[in-house]
Amino acid sequence: MQFIRRALVAIVVIAIGSSAAAWFLAGREAGPAIEIKSPGAFIGQKSSLELFVDAPAGKLTRLTAALTQGGKALHVFSLDDATGTSGDVKQASSDRLWIIRPLGKASQPELVAGPATLTITAARPVLFGWREAETTVKKDLTVRLEPPRVGVVSTHHFLNLGGSEFVVLRATPPDISAGVTVAGVSFPAFPGASVGLSDPALKVAFFALPFDQDANTPVTAFARDEAGNSATASVERQAFPKVFQRSRIPIDTTFLSRVVPAIASNTPALAVKTDDLLAAFLTINRDLRQQNNATIAALAAKTAPEMLWKEAFAQLGNTQVESRFADHRTYIFEGREVDQQTHLGFDLASTQQAPVTASNKGVVVHAAYLGIYGNCVIVDHGLGVQSLYAHLSTIDVKEGDAVEKGQTLGRSGTTGLAGGDHLHFTMLVGGVQVNPVEFWDGHWMEDRVFRKIREAGGSAPAPARK
Ligand SMILES: [Zn+2]
Repeated sequence: MQFIRRALVAIVVIAIGSSAAAWFLAGREAGPAIEIKSPGAFIGQKSSLELFVDAPAGKLTRLTAALTQGGKALHVFSLDDATGTSGDVKQASSDRLWIIRPLGKASQPELVAGPATLTITAARPVLFGWREAETTVKKDLTVRLEPPRVGVVSTHHFLNLGGSEFVVLRATPPDISAGVTVAGVSFPAFPGASVGLSDPALKVAFFALPFDQDANTPVTAFARDEAGNSATASVERQAFPKVFQRSRIPIDTTFLSRVVPAIASNTPALAVKTDDLLAAFLTINRDLRQQNNATIAALAAKTAPEMLWKEAFAQLGNTQVESRFADHRTYIFEGREVDQQTHLGFDLASTQQAPVTASNKGVVVHAAYLGIYGNCVIVDHGLGVQSLYAHLSTIDVKEGDAVEKGQTLGRSGTTGLAGGDHLHFTMLVGGVQVNPVEFWDGHWMEDRVFRKIREAGGSAPAPARK
C-alpha cells in the first residue's frame, strides 16, 4: 500500500510538473509570422493595408491592425470585422492568410498629416487551445494628405503620329515621381538637374505618340507620391495625323529556307517546326516579333537619368532609304496574302557589310542576337531615348560600353528577318518605337528640345547660327 501511495504521489507530481512544463513551453512557442506588403513608408487619402499572416492550418485566435497617432489609437482591422463578409481575408495557402483593407484618411477620417505607427497583432492557439502564441509588428509611417501638384512649364508642343515630344514639368513636392501618360503608356520624367535646371521642382520628360493611336489621344502630365496621392495636368499640344506607307512584300521558299532555320536555331525557346517553313515564318513574324518588341521595350528601364547627347542624331552615312517608319506590310506567298505587320523603323542600305556607326553618344544596353532583329545593338542616350541597329553581320561592342557619336558598333548584314544586306534602324522613347526622322533633324532637336531647356533656365547647346 505504501508503495502504491508513493507511486500515485509520484504520478501526480510528474503530471503537474509536465503540465507546468508544457504550459511554460507553450508560452514560448513562436506566434504567427506577419509580413506587411503595404503601406510602404507613407500613407495618404486612399492607401491600403496588405499583409500575409502565417500560422499552422491558418488558425488564428486574434488579428488586429491599428494606427496610433499622438497617443490615440485608430481601428483599422480586426479578424472579427471580416468574418463572413467581403473578400478582405483570403486563404493564400493552407497556412497563409492574405488580408487587404483600405487604409488612409478616407477610411480613418481622424487621421492627420504627420508621423503614425501601424501595429499588427496576431495570435494562434497552442496547447490544444489553452494558450495563445502572439506576435506584434510595428511600423512607423508618415501620413501625407496634401496632393502633389504638377504643371507644364514648356510651350509649343507639336506631336506627330508615331513621333516624339519633350516637356518641362513643375512637380511638387520635389521628392515625388512625375511623367507623362499617352494611351496608357507612362513616360517617366527625370530631374531637371539632368539638363542643368537648378530648381528641384523642375522635371523633364520625352514622350511619344505610338503610331497606332488616334492623333488626338490625350496627353497627360502626372505626379504621384509614395502615399498614393496623385495629380494630373493636360499637356497642350498640336497633333498631326500621318499617313503611313503600305507595301506588299513577296516572300518565297528561298527566302524562308534562309531565314527561318537560322532564327529558329538561335531562338531555342521558340519551339517551331522548320519542316513547315511558312507556318514557322508566321510564328516568327507574329509571336517572336511581339516577344522581341517586349524585350526591347523593357530596356527602357536601363536608361541613364541624364542627357548624354549634345546635337541631333545622325542617319548612317551614304545610305539609301529602302523602307520607312510604320510602313504597313502585307506579306505575299505563292500569290496569297499570308500576313500583315507594321515595320517600325527605317531600312538603310549601302554596301554589303558596311560599318554601322552610333547615331549619337551613349551606352550600349544590348549587344546580342534578338530574334527577328538578328544581331542587334541598342544604345541608350539617356532620359528614355535609345537607338536600335538590327540585322548586323558582326557586333563590335558589348553591353556596358560607352560609345561616341560615329563610333563603329558592327557591320551591316542579313541576320534575323532581313531580305538583303541593310541596317534596320529605329529610335525608342520610353520603350516605344518612334519615327527617327525627328531625332535626325537639327531644327527639330533645337526647337522641340534644346529651346525648352534654355527657356526653363537650363543648359543646352545654343542654336547653330546660319
Ligand atoms: Zn527593317
